Amino acid sequence: MSYFVDEKGFYGRFGGAYIPEMLYANVEELRTQYLKIMESDQFRNDYQFLLKHYAGRPSPLYPAKRLSELYKTNIFLKREDLNHTGSHKLNNTIGQILIAKALGKTRIIAETGAGQHGVATATVCALMNLECIVYMGETDVQRQYPNVMRMKMLGAEVVPVTSGNKTLKDATNEAIRDWINHPENTHYIIGSVVGPHPYPDMVSKFQSIISEEIKLQLKEHIGRELPDYAIACVGGGSNAIGTFYHFIDHPEVKLVAVEASGLGVDTNETAATIACGELGIIHGSKTYLMQNQDGQITEPYSISAGLDYPGIGPVHAHLHETGRLTVMDATDKEALDAAFRLTQIEGIIPALESAHALAALEKMRFRPEDIVVVTVSGRGDKDMDTYIKCMNDKL
Ligand SMILES: *Cc1c(COP(=O)(O)O)cnc(C)c1O
Repeated sequence: MSYFVDEKGFYGRFGGAYIPEMLYANVEELRTQYLKIMESDQFRNDYQFLLKHYAGRPSPLYPAKRLSELYKTNIFLKREDLNHTGSHKLNNTIGQILIAKALGKTRIIAETGAGQHGVATATVCALMNLECIVYMGETDVQRQYPNVMRMKMLGAEVVPVTSGNKTLKDATNEAIRDWINHPENTHYIIGSVVGPHPYPDMVSKFQSIISEEIKLQLKEHIGRELPDYAIACVGGGSNAIGTFYHFIDHPEVKLVAVEASGLGVDTNETAATIACGELGIIHGSKTYLMQNQDGQITEPYSISAGLDYPGIGPVHAHLHETGRLTVMDATDKEALDAAFRLTQIEGIIPALESAHALAALEKMRFRPEDIVVVTVSGRGDKDMDTYIKCMNDKL
């Protein structure tokens, strides 16, 4: 059995490419070309160059001494927060902009919820001098004003979407509509391991740089490449699969994904897709998703904007179903506590998303000799409003 994608674009019974006929040509072009492009010398050189000199990779693998003392084990933090633009998202957008160039595309579209993926896309479009259009629900445009202005400053056009709930799902529908109308010159940069095949596999491969580096860095620190645990938060699942990728075929490495359960998995205010979702089709892919009894996608909730996606990447659905992946969850409150804990004992203010991964440490039992890697997917600057509110409430 394989945990990776098969020729038809499936992970077990998950994944595939359930797309309208009008999109077939676009997706087919990508499907037949992406591996060829990614394996070319030109692509490899350009990708490595930009990761090193533009994004600032390799990101450090930091042995967190005081956190290790607290949990009586050996914790290493993979510092994706130190990348340019503040998260792992740039690993993917750099990869996809190079794919777009190789395909001769001149126009880039993207969807964004909180605006983090929109900013990472607008960044590489500025870098490569390509036209950039970002679809964003009107509700999110109002909630995420600083990111909207960042995108505009970077030269992107931000299109507010007024259909449906005016959030991420509606922005995605609008981006797909745009792609149908501009098949020749446009590439659609999807921001996580979601969407129709080949996106989940392509984005996984771009993010796999995270575990590739972890192996080399662990070797440097402790003389062995494999940790006992690899832990990451999961929205769509791109930083998580990046953290797991090179460990998947090593069953001795325990893989732990942490979902955002919002106010709790037994409430309606949650984004814990594996815990609460059911099988369905979202964004062209068969996977678990949050839906009502009529099969309509419901609005997820989490304190962290990056985790309130109503689906989950098909690779994670498969890893979960086969028992390879342990899925945990953390509530808003548990994530906030973990963010303050890390800040106060290690001097690192994490993104709220990443704080969910750190919150899992509280609920786990480790042996003193265990090697535990936790990915800090992003930095907390963007979440200061929430952190400030939390501090004021405590006074
Ligand atoms: C977007 C984002 C996430 C969630 O996306 P994944 O695809 O699940 O990784 C997590 N952390 C940060 C900092 C983000 O910006």
